[in-house]
Amino acid sequence: MADPIYLDHAATTPVRAEVLEAMTPFFGARFGNPSSTHRFGREARVALDEARERVAACLGAHPDEVCFTSCGTESDNMALLGAWRVQRGRGRGAVVTTPIEHKAVLAVAHHIATEGGEERLVPVDANGRVDDAAFDRLVDDTTALCSVMWVNNEIGTIQPVPALAGRAKARGALFHTDAVQALGKVAIDARTQPFDLLAISGHKIGAPKGVGALFVRRGVALVPLMHGGAQDRGRRPGTENVAMAVGLAVAAEHAVAEREVECARLRALRDRLEGAILARVPDAVVHARGAERAPHVSNISVPGTDSESMLMALDLAGIAASAGSACQSGSVTPSHVLTAIGVPAALAASSIRLSLGALTTDADIARVAEVFPALVAKARGVASAA
Ligand code: PLP
Repeated sequence: MADPIYLDHAATTPVRAEVLEAMTPFFGARFGNPSSTHRFGREARVALDEARERVAACLGAHPDEVCFTSCGTESDNMALLGAWRVQRGRGRGAVVTTPIEHKAVLAVAHHIATEGGEERLVPVDANGRVDDAAFDRLVDDTTALCSVMWVNNEIGTIQPVPALAGRAKARGALFHTDAVQALGKVAIDARTQPFDLLAISGHKIGAPKGVGALFVRRGVALVPLMHGGAQDRGRRPGTENVAMAVGLAVAAEHAVAEREVECARLRALRDRLEGAILARVPDAVVHARGAERAPHVSNISVPGTDSESMLMALDLAGIAASAGSACQSGSVTPSHVLTAIGVPAALAASSIRLSLGALTTDADIARVAEVFPALVAKARGVASAA
């Protein structure tokens, strides 16, 4: 059988060789604790500081504005809860976000509502873009912070984050963006874009799972999620994971340096894939096709099939994809993202997400395009027999 084809880069990516190489010494001789004052500790401190400088440079940030975390989810939690707990004391208790956020934001906004805050959801249009008028209406002088994801993980829609951040700040609210799917896909620069907080995750860009970072603009106060030592200026206690910080720095540098070339490559592959599928399965629907989209995500519904049958058929053909977002695979409720952009439940239930990345080649796309119609026919047979 031919080599398996991995089309699930929005779920996670393979660790880059350069990242693993840069991390390896910290699992060996360079094992020191960066808080120790002896030479082992000092060596670890230097590596950690350097990693922080490198991540900061990738974001246009100052090194003291970068806080390392354990993942994108933690970064989002820290941003929303931490900022809201400061802001509510100033008479600002509302959190404004969108119905298409990742659960790492949506579930925190729900949680904030249980702690006495208010959750306000800005509607999005059929392409998943935030409704500007509703945003302006919902952000007012009781708003603690707004949280709008830069790139959606299920449909790829890019939000006009710099403009939204500017409008939120004009009303005295803080602005957070979940940039977990955006790093390496859109230009991020804290020097010219007015967001206050920005979350990234290592495993979406070629670093291992279990590392992330939160950009916290100078002057923005957060109540820490955890209590303990004074690491990371008291923002995040716990002995720092030097190896992971180094890995994130190397991965982020590659993602940023390769962004334009890699995005052009992925866009061409994605357009070829979508074009071939639509030519051979004319009733297939590519969600948010009219949106400004990041090039790595394609979300397609095939009427008369269901996601699970399609995923199974693809898997048997050696093609790894997912339904909606990975955390929701196996659940029968339709994707909250597709629901929010107005996709009917039956169509949403037949959606699959094909996400491209470093592993994706021309030959992969040609093979998927070639086998797709037969897989649809098979899945349709299963669906109609059920
Ligand atoms: N936000 C978005 C948009 C994501 O795609 C993900 C991962 O799927 C996360 C947050 C969570 O990141 P992590 O898996 O590092 O916790």
